[in-house]
Amino acid sequence: MPIYEYRTTEKGCDYCRDSFEVRQSMGSKPFTKCPRCHSPVRRLISQFRACVIETADEAIATERKIREYEKEGRWSHAAELADKAGLEDRAKENYKKAGYNM
Ligand SMILES: [Zn+2]
Repeated sequence: MPIYEYRTTEKGCDYCRDSFEVRQSMGSKPFTKCPRCHSPVRRLISQFRACVIETADEAIATERKIREYEKEGRWSHAAELADKAGLEDRAKENYKKAGYNM
C-alpha cells in the first residue's frame, strides 16, 4: 500500500506541522484535514511516487543492459534479462534469436 505524506497549510498542530505519513490504498480519497486538529492539509510528494521513480531507473538500467547483450549477439543473456524484467515479447524475440523454439 502506498504511503502518502501530508502537511498542514495553516498553523496546525505538532502532528501535522512537520508532515505526517498515512498509509492508504490507491483508490482512497486523500485527507483534507488533520485527524488531530482538523487544520486543512495538503498531500506532499509521496514516498510512493519516489518508489516508482526508483523502479523506473532500474527499468532503464535493465533496458540498457538488454540492449548491450543484443548488440553483442548474446541473445540468451538478453532473453533471460528481459524475461526477468517482465518484457515478455522482448524475451521471446531474443530466445528465438538464441535458437530456442518457443
Ligand atoms: Zn494537526
